[in-house]
Amino acid sequence: MIKAENITKKFGKQTVLHSISTTIKQGEVVAVIGPSGSGKSTFLRCLNLLESPTEGKVWLNDQEITAPKRNKLAVRKHIGMVFQHFHLFPHMTVLDNVAYAPQKVKGISKQEAHQTAKKLLAKVGLTDKEQAYPNRLSGGQKQRVAIARALAMEPETMLFDEPTSALDPEMVKEVLEVIKDLANTGMTMIIVTHEMNFAKEVADRIMFLDQGRLIEEAEPTAFFHEPATERAKDFLAKVL
Ligand code: ADP
Ligand code: MG
Repeated sequence: MIKAENITKKFGKQTVLHSISTTIKQGEVVAVIGPSGSGKSTFLRCLNLLESPTEGKVWLNDQEITAPKRNKLAVRKHIGMVFQHFHLFPHMTVLDNVAYAPQKVKGISKQEAHQTAKKLLAKVGLTDKEQAYPNRLSGGQKQRVAIARALAMEPETMLFDEPTSALDPEMVKEVLEVIKDLANTGMTMIIVTHEMNFAKEVADRIMFLDQGRLIEEAEPTAFFHEPATERAKDFLAKVL
C-alpha cells in the first residue's frame, strides 16, 4: 500500500536518510523507533511529501507519488498525520477544527462535516468539548482532537510522529488507547514513538533507524528480545 524505494534525503550537504526501502501493507501497523536525530520524522515526512526525497520513490497504491507533477494535496487526502505538538487551529472550536478540512478540501457541506466531526469526537471521548477552544483543553485532549481531525479526511493511512512525547505522563495513556483502538479497526499506521511497551503491543513490525539508516526491521517480539545488531542492542539498553 505504501512503498518506499531507496529514499535518500539530504539537507544541504548532510544526508539524513540513506536509501531507505520498505513496504507497508494495508492494515499493517509499523512502529519507527531510534535515537533522536536518526531521521524518523524526516522519513515520515517523505512518505506524505511534506519533504521531497532527494532520491528514491514513494508509491501509494501502485501510483508513484514522487513522480513529477503529482498533486501533493491529493496525496495528503489519503495519508493523515498527527504531530507531537498538535497544531490545532487556535481560533476555531474543537468541532470546527475537525470539520474544517473536509469542507475546505473535499467540498463536503457544513452540515455533513459537522455530523462526521461529532461522531469522531465521540469516538475519541470528547463530545463534551465540541464547543471549547483548544486553549481550554489538556494536552491529551488536544491530541485526541488532532487525531479526530486527521480521521475526518477519511485517510487510508495514518502517520503519527511522537504523538505522546509532548504530553504529561498522566495523559499518555488516553492518547495511546485511542491509537490502539484505531489500530484494531485495521487502519494502516506508521507510528514514530518512544513508548516501547506500546510499540511491542500494537505494532506488527518495528523499523529501527540510526543515523539515517534502516538498521533493523523485525517483528516486535524478535526485535525486543533478540535484536540482531549491536546498535539496536545499545539503543534498547538505554531506553528499556
Ligand atoms: P528524528 O525525528 O529521528 O529525531 P529528524 O528526522 O527530525 O530526526 O532529523 C534527522 C536529521 O535531519 C537531524 O540531524 C536534523 O537536524 C536534520 N533535519 C531535519 N529537518 C531538517 C531541515 N528542515 N533542515 C535541515 N536539517 C534538518
Ligand atoms: Mg522526530
